[in-house]
Amino acid sequence: MASDTPILIVGGGIGGLAAACGLARVGMRSLVLEKASELSEIGAGIQLGPNAFRAFDRLGVGKEARQLAVYVDSIRFMDAVSAEEVMNIAVDEAFVSRFEDPYAVVHRGDLHRVFVRACEASDLIEVRTDAPVVDYDQDGDSVSGILADGTRIAGRALIGADGLWSKIRKRVIGDGLPRVSGHTTYRSVIPVEDMPEDLRWNASVLWGGPKCHIVHYPLQGGQAFNLVVTYHNDAPEPVMGLPVDTEMVRRGFDHVHPKPRQVIERGRNWKLWVLCDREPAANWTDGRVTLLGDAAHPMMQYMAQGACMAMEDAVCLAQEMEAASGDVGRAFPAYQARRVPRTARVQLQSRFIGDYVFHPDGASAQLRNMLMASKTQDEWLDAIDWLYGVNGLSHGPAAIGGGSKTLA
Ligand SMILES: Cc1cc2nc3c(=O)[nH]c(=O)nc-3n(C[C@H](O)[C@H](O)[C@H](O)COP(=O)(O)OP(=O)(O)OC[C@H]3O[C@@H](n4cnc5c(N)ncnc54)[C@H](O)[C@@H]3O)c2cc1C
Repeated sequence: MASDTPILIVGGGIGGLAAACGLARVGMRSLVLEKASELSEIGAGIQLGPNAFRAFDRLGVGKEARQLAVYVDSIRFMDAVSAEEVMNIAVDEAFVSRFEDPYAVVHRGDLHRVFVRACEASDLIEVRTDAPVVDYDQDGDSVSGILADGTRIAGRALIGADGLWSKIRKRVIGDGLPRVSGHTTYRSVIPVEDMPEDLRWNASVLWGGPKCHIVHYPLQGGQAFNLVVTYHNDAPEPVMGLPVDTEMVRRGFDHVHPKPRQVIERGRNWKLWVLCDREPAANWTDGRVTLLGDAAHPMMQYMAQGACMAMEDAVCLAQEMEAASGDVGRAFPAYQARRVPRTARVQLQSRFIGDYVFHPDGASAQLRNMLMASKTQDEWLDAIDWLYGVNGLSHGPAAIGGGSKTLA
């Protein structure tokens, strides 16, 4: 196989493009195969912990990502029934100095475009749209991505970054369809003028109530607000991005205080998702093929970490490819050994948070409020250190053995 044969990346979402950027940083050529006719992301917000900024820097897009982020003052948890504040973690100098990076929110489309531009600017990255990969096959030296029309594309290796409904995962793991959580999420982005004045907080805010929660935060330099409304209504079927009217979003929120309920009335062009995730998988790799992002570890969005984990995957994969001088037989197992426990923790903890922190009722909600309110600022920072802390991304053999020079 010629040395300039690319690594195939299936999927041009945030994970796939981040993987291409990471590989280019260590001098490795890639070809991104995206099934859609253009690269795009839905218009909604995304929260970014300090671990995301660490990944941006290592992927070479730190400056651009920092420019478009909105830096919130705090992360607030409100009781959706009483409208009282339960927790307020200041995202201030102490936070930044502890984690060496900020907490921020961005428009998902803006972030995706940062990666698109970085890919366009690199001689080592080619992106091909209208390229739905349905299967792969491999021998000892190479792998072929097989497109829907039967075209075969040769690569040194293949990375399945094709999201929740991954075709590549189906071959590598074969663990059936994703789990339907029964949680329905509605999303809307509105101009700042439409946001109720008493809720125009420069904060990432979550109102937790029985079987439901409401999230809002500013976007795009404070000119817009991202609204996310979730109801645990035991919806049986997966749904992705279905347009719905406000009447539908209102259902299940009668027991919520009028203050957060205003958010539902102000939202426009609501879209509905029925959320899915999976059990953590111990193996993501089949010879020259591995998985990344939602294809590897789809999770509920309750820790706001799906995209952050995909970008961490991209950094770690590039580090291990560099450390193994491109030998995927060594790099892929090392990559997965570092990533599986950390992403499994986020997958499982996200489920737990939905049930026991965001959605409880009665005595359980009282207990939640008491426990959350009793923590000091420092105790909160200690509690999230495993996720946001500077060592989070480096856990594993490469950190112990030295790891990457380029992406360290
Ligand atoms: C309501 C909600 C809120 C969220 N909030 C946050 C947040 O605040 N912070 C955060 O970090 N994460 C958040 N997430 C999670 C985050 O959106 C995902 O984890 C992340 O986008 C996954 O990126 P990915 O590239 O792995 O997959 P995807 O974004 O799904 O991209 C997969 C790409 O592969 C392409 N594709 C699929 N199949 C094929 C094929 N067969 N051949 C070729 N191409 C293919 C698709 O068209 C797509 O472009 C949220 C998710 C939801 C649902």
